[in-house]
Order: sequence, then C-alpha cells, then structure tokens
Amino acid sequence: MFGLVVRNANLPDGREGVDIAVQDGRIVAVEPAIAGAAQTEIDATGRLVTPPFVDPHFHMDATLSLGLPRMNTSGTLLEGIELWGELRPTLTKDALIERALRYCDLAVSQGLLAIRSHIDTSDPRLVTAEALLEVRDMVAPYLTLQLVAFPQDGYYRAPEGVASLARALDMGLDVVGGIPHFERTMADGTASVEALCRIAADRGLPVDMHCDETDDPLSRHVETLAAQTIRFGLEGRVVGSHLTSMHSMDNYYVSKLIPLMAEARLHAVANPLINIMLQGRHDTYPRRRGMTRVPELLAAGINVGFGHDCVMDPWYSMGSGDMLEVGHMAIHVAQMASVADKQKVFEILTYGNARAMGLDAYGLEAGCHADLVILQARDAVEALRLKANRLTVIRRGKIIAETPARLTTLSLPGRPGQVDAAAYAPQIVNWQ
Ligand SMILES: [Zn+2]
Repeated sequence: MFGLVVRNANLPDGREGVDIAVQDGRIVAVEPAIAGAAQTEIDATGRLVTPPFVDPHFHMDATLSLGLPRMNTSGTLLEGIELWGELRPTLTKDALIERALRYCDLAVSQGLLAIRSHIDTSDPRLVTAEALLEVRDMVAPYLTLQLVAFPQDGYYRAPEGVASLARALDMGLDVVGGIPHFERTMADGTASVEALCRIAADRGLPVDMHCDETDDPLSRHVETLAAQTIRFGLEGRVVGSHLTSMHSMDNYYVSKLIPLMAEARLHAVANPLINIMLQGRHDTYPRRRGMTRVPELLAAGINVGFGHDCVMDPWYSMGSGDMLEVGHMAIHVAQMASVADKQKVFEILTYGNARAMGLDAYGLEAGCHADLVILQARDAVEALRLKANRLTVIRRGKIIAETPARLTTLSLPGRPGQVDAAAYAPQIVNWQ
C-alpha cells in the first residue's frame, strides 16, 4: 500500500500516461500502470506533472514592500537601491517575517517550493538576517529557503560591510554573496570577489554574487569570479547572478570568457523580468535588452538558472511568484522560440534552478523527494504558453495546495458553453 499514487501523468521529458508512486515522502516508482493501492490516489488525466518550480534568485527581505516609503519614480536600479536605503532603517523583525511568510504562501500556491533569497547585510543591526532565519525554520516543512549574505551597499563600500557580512554568516546564513560592480572602483570590486571567495572556501559555503548587473561592457567581474572559483577549488558551487554586462561585451572577449566560466563550472542565473525592466536605461535607441547571453552559455554547457529576483518591492513593482511568468519572459528576451528551446526553458525553471541551488534528491526518479506539481496543461511547452494553473501542489507526498481548474462559462448563441484555455493545445504532427 503506497502513501500516494499519481496516475496518468505527462512528464516534462515527454513521457505520457505514467504513474508516480510515493512512500514515506519519497518517490518509489515512476512507470506506466503501477499495480497496488494507495491511501491517496490522484488522476492527473493526462496533464503535466513536474517537480516543483525553483527560484534561485530572490530578495525576500524586500518583497511586498512596494510603496514603502514611496514609489521608485525613475524605475531604475539605482533609485531602487536608494529607496531600499530609505526603507531599511525602518524595518522591524515582525514586519519582515510577516511579509516573507505571505510571499511564501503565494509561492506555494504557484508550485514554487524552493527559493534562494539574498538577505541584505549592509545594516549592522542585521534585523533582516534575524527575521529571515526564523522564516527559514518556519517554512521548512513546506518550502526550502536558502539565505545569501548579501552586502547590498558594497562589501567594502558600506561602512561596516565586512564585519556585518561575517556576523550574518556566523548567525547561520547559507551562502556568501557579493556585489562587485557596486564597489567604489573596479579594483575594489575585484578585491571583494577574491575576499568573498576566500571566505566561502574557509567556511565551506557556496557563493552567489550579484555580478556585473550593469550595461557597462567593461564590467568584467565575472572573469575574476571564475578565476577565483578555480583558485579556491569552488568549482560547481559558485553562481554568477545577473551577468547583464555580458549582453554589451565585445564578442571576441566573450569568446574567451565563456570557456573560462565553463572551466570554473560557474552557474549563470539570469533574471529576465527585472533585467528587461531595468537594463538599457541609459540608452536612447537602439535600446539594449540587457539580459545575459543565455543561448550561448547553454551551448557552452554552462548551467543556466532563471530567477524571479523581485516581487512588488523598490526595484520591481510587478511579479506574482510565478516562475512560468519568468520563463515566458525569458523565451521572449532570449528569443528561445523553438520547441526544443521552450523545453529547455522549462528544464531551467525546475532542474537548472535546482542545480544552481545545489538541491539534493530533486526530480522525478525513485529516491527523490515526493515534491510534485500538477498543472492545467498537457506538456511543458503548453505550461509556458499558458502560465498554467497549478491544480495540485504536493510536498513530501502530502497535498499542500489546490486550485480549481480554470474554466470559463460562455453565454454566446451557437457557441460552446465553456472555454478551457488548456484545451487549445496544438495538434502538431511535425515539431521540426
Ligand atoms: Zn538580486
């Protein structure tokens, strides 16, 4: 007797009509027509069943603070940082916890069950770290939260940046962050990358830096990040986030840079929603898109992730905790229009992001955590097109969120009485 069996599932890799059996919070079998009963049986009715969405880049200390203490009128990254600087001294632990928990509720409803959040360590009060460490424990039964010690105002540039980041790591944050392009000079940025990689190596922690989030083609800290990764033996444990300057770099230089990033086994995390909103702001026309070179990084075998980055905060007034919205934007900005490209985007939102976060037992094989999402869509491509409804969200074999199927009743003479957007999936014979 299984704890749970999900029957008649379509999987992201294209397999159809598969059953998934779960016992004690783990997947024990994934195959057609599994025999035997279960305490709970769910018929997926030929819909997509996927491992949960993963967000490898978020700011949970700022989320849902939109309008506090005012709006970002220029819409730029720099005014966002300025605005956050005004809000930060007023932050309280209780308010931070309440907003973070509310965001996690939304995330769960969207089938998003693992988030890596940068936590600003610039204010030496560290009320942000204190609050989010409590949240990490509170949500652990239903959402995996990793916390990055992030020196928003600069590791060297903030008055107590160095000591404050060390204390935040002592408190139990999981990952070493950085923001080299925001230090006072290129040289300070370079020095910060070296110092922070050394800290990670000494403490046995991963690294995740905001790196080159600028349109300046000479912002080349990712090169240093890759080199220091190799120097300190951190291969596979380092994420370069944003990397937007790569969009504007000289092609010859990039032809040398990408192989170095591959050698360092760097993970590259782009944030398509926020980057299309914030980059290119100094341009008139033509105006650059500012997202890093996703197809070229993928072609070089580099693991790419896509993050949400912000939801209703000083930097980004939109967002809904929906990683399919992130993927939808990535498809457009990177012009990843083919079926194979879209399948790759879906793979990034799940497995690619899980690799960037170093999640274990993630996936749809026997032995993996029984964390599953059933979508109101036939396959991964349709899920992205529709930003499909999450019908059922399962964590460790237990249903933790359910949404009714979205169906519209029509009152049109001579037309069907009901519209199901998911029933419009194309009947394509040849995908090539
Ligand atoms: Zn960020």
